[in-house]
Order: sequence, then C-alpha cells, then structure tokens
Amino acid sequence: MCKVDFCRRIVAPFLMLIVLSGCGAEKQQITETGMLCTYESGASDTLVIGSTLLLVDGAISDGGLVVLSSGRIGDVGSFDELATAFPEASHLDCRGNTVLSPGWVNIHEHQAYSYAFPDPKLKAVYHHREDWILGRNDMLQLAVPDDQHYNPDVPMTHALLSWVELRHLYAGTTTLGGSGAMRGLARNIGVPRNAEGADAAGYTFAVGTEVFPFTRNATEQFAGVCGVDGVSKLLAINDSNPELAFAPHVGEGRKSDCTASAEIDAYLDYVAEQHTSRRRFAAVHAVATGPEQFARFAELDVTLAWAPRSNLALYGETIALQESQHHGVRLALGTDWSPSGSFNMLEEFSCARAVADKIGVALDDRDLWLMATHNAAYAVGIDEAVGQLKQGYYADIVLLRKQEGKDAYAAAVNASAADVAIVWLDGKPTFLESGMAAQMDLDSDCVSLTAEDKFLCADFETVGITWEDILVMTTDAVPINGDTTGQAPCNVDHLGK
Ligand SMILES: [Zn+2]
Repeated sequence: MCKVDFCRRIVAPFLMLIVLSGCGAEKQQITETGMLCTYESGASDTLVIGSTLLLVDGAISDGGLVVLSSGRIGDVGSFDELATAFPEASHLDCRGNTVLSPGWVNIHEHQAYSYAFPDPKLKAVYHHREDWILGRNDMLQLAVPDDQHYNPDVPMTHALLSWVELRHLYAGTTTLGGSGAMRGLARNIGVPRNAEGADAAGYTFAVGTEVFPFTRNATEQFAGVCGVDGVSKLLAINDSNPELAFAPHVGEGRKSDCTASAEIDAYLDYVAEQHTSRRRFAAVHAVATGPEQFARFAELDVTLAWAPRSNLALYGETIALQESQHHGVRLALGTDWSPSGSFNMLEEFSCARAVADKIGVALDDRDLWLMATHNAAYAVGIDEAVGQLKQGYYADIVLLRKQEGKDAYAAAVNASAADVAIVWLDGKPTFLESGMAAQMDLDSDCVSLTAEDKFLCADFETVGITWEDILVMTTDAVPINGDTTGQAPCNVDHLGK
C-alpha cells in the first residue's frame, strides 16, 4: 500500500480523483482533467519539470528541465528521458497546456519609488524629463514619491521595497534592475545605495544604473550644444563604477528635444572612448534616438532599454521602433516605475505590442520575449547566469498557462497575471496557484493570498520582515496581484504609421 502522505501529495484533496490502489500503479493513474500539472513527490530534493520550454533558439515541446537543490538548473531536454534519468526526483508534469520560460529580467525599475500611483496631473505633454522633474519651460511639475531606499531604522522602507519586489515576482519577474534592493526576494541588479551597505545583501549583480549621468540639470549641461548660450558646458559623465556594466538613463525626451538628442550623442561618444574593454553598455529610455544614432547603437553593441508605457504617458511618443529594428539594435524591456510605467512586465509586453501594431512593425513574439530575458541579461553582462533555461543558470523560472493552439512565445508575451502558474526563484517556488501548492504539499508552509487563489512562499526570515507587517504598511501602495487599476495609460493614438 502506498503511504498516505505520498498519496496526498499527488492527489489534491479537493479533486474528484480516482482511488489509488498501490504505489506501483499510481504513476500511470495520476492524470486529472482540469489540472494544469500532475505531481509525484520523490525522495530527493531534485525536481524535473515537464512543459514546452522557451529557449533562445526555439521552443521544445514535451521538454524537461531539472531543478537542482542548489537552486541551479541541471539538465534540459526531453521530459520522458529526464524523468527516467532522475527516478528519485519529484516530477511535475505540465506538458500540453503550459510554457516554461526564464523569469523576466526587468532591466529598469526604481523600486524605492515604485509603490506609488501616478500623479493625477500626469499628461503626455512633456518634452524632456526635466520639464516634469524641475518645471523646465514653466511646465507643471509632477509629484515624485518619497524615497524609500532601505533604511534598517525605518520599517516602512523594508515593507514597501518588499511589496514592490513581490508585485514583480507575482507576474513572473525574477531579476530587477535599479536601485532599491531587498534581500531574500527578487534578484537585484545595481549597486548598494545605503552608505552603511545595509542594502548590499539584496544585490546579486553589480551594475552601474546611473539615473542622472549628466547631473540633474542636463539642459544646463547641454546649453552650448543646443545653442542657448553658444558655449558647451558639458562636464564628464557620471560613471562612478567604470569596472561595471553601465546602464544609465539617457535621452529621455522627445526626438525634437535638443537636450535629449544631445545626451544620446554624448553617451555614444563616451561609449566609443570606453569600448576597448569587454564592458557592456545599455541606454535606458533613449526615446530621442535618431536614425544615425541607432546605427551607432548597433556598431557599439549598446542595448536600448525600452520602457514604452512610461515614454507614452509622459512624452506622447516612444522610440522609433522601426528604425531600431532596421539597424538591428538590441532591445530590452523595463517597467521604469509605477508613477508613469507598467505595474509589471506583462503590462510592458502588452504596451510594446500595442506600439508595434499601431505603427505597423512586425514584431515577432519571440523577439519580444527576448527583450525580457536574454537581451536584458546581455545588456548588463549577466547573460551567463540568468535569462535562459540553460544548465548551470539560476533556476529563476516561470510556468505560464498556454491557450490551446497558441504559439509558445505568444503564450508568454500575451499572458496575464492570472496565467502565471508558478514562479521559481533560486529553484524554490515563490508564487504558485493554490491547487499547485496543495499538490506539492506546500500549503502549510506558505501564505495564502485567498482573494487571488495564490500562495506566496517567501522566506520571510531572510527577508527580515513578517508578511503581516508588510500588509499593514502597504495598504495605499500599488497592489501586488496584477490589478492594473490606476496604471498609466499606454496611449498609442498619436503614433503614426
Ligand atoms: Zn527610469
């Protein structure tokens, strides 16, 4: 007879499932209609997942991927072969109606501010970001949320940063680029901000993400270039960690804005000077990039970190997508921040698709998927650790529901938060559907988000704050559950064909 515990792990209690009679026969009897996956608990800590795998070179149907107890990906190949090769492992077979993807690498966030809803005054009237930050050209300034970078003496910072990371994890992001890391949750890209290094434990990858490379007043820096006083005042670019990959904000303004355009030239000149090393370079936003500048992006191997929703919400335009494609510029996607950008990466996919459709650019689903996986990892030099389902990489993975008949990459880039079935971070399930939690016997170890029918399995001891405390302090923040009420619009009406 099989052990009760073993049976319970396979058969979620709420299922109308067959009575099992002996362990030997069970593996043939566990399929259940209406369920996304079947699960067999094994004796080892290894897990074999079966699904359609999204790889850089193409999708593998009936694929299998091994998650090792170290939190890394083991073999990748056929599920049947791997299930046979790892008989002691647990087997989670989700073939047929799911896709398995690397978790999203969101290259551009500002976690310390990204808890806030847009200012009600937000309108797409600005020409350069200094219009709304500084009130340049007598334009209406927008409210910038209070800075919530981690401070161990201020519990609110801890709660809000955790909340923002959980919101991204919920929708499949496993790596976040930008300052404002919180340990124990999403993997972070950036450099510690806190002078005492209190936030250092949050960063897996050191990357320079300078938001103000031309100081906080680029208009003044480029006054000469732009013909205001005839003398260039451009100072050296702020690049305090020249040994690291560099992903600064550059050219965030309309194409017609001289300062925004001059920033791009100055940055590309800087990259050309620096480009003797194997250092990776990206440019965040770069909305103002013109045709010749795109050619230089390609030539200098600079990735453009695209944030279409935030661009459209503030400036009424975004990058010249067709030109960027024409010149073969590598694009990566990022959400920017909740006051003007997408609340999660699935919303950013949706906005990027809307832009492409409106201007008539044929944007392949796989190319869009690459912008949130391998391209983003390449942009900042972490492409040998994340962004692919590949042996030795971090097991940061997302399992998504796939509509029947839909292309595998389309399933990923058209997914809604409700389609995210499981998110693994470091090989551990972080968010998973309630049914899955019951199947995998995780329901007693994890927090139930009842309204969303999901379980959260974060290690709050490592995070250093309880779930209850997080809940109490985040009642006014953008919710984590994929609810996009109040999100800035992705208005493509004014984009021409
Ligand atoms: Zn930004």
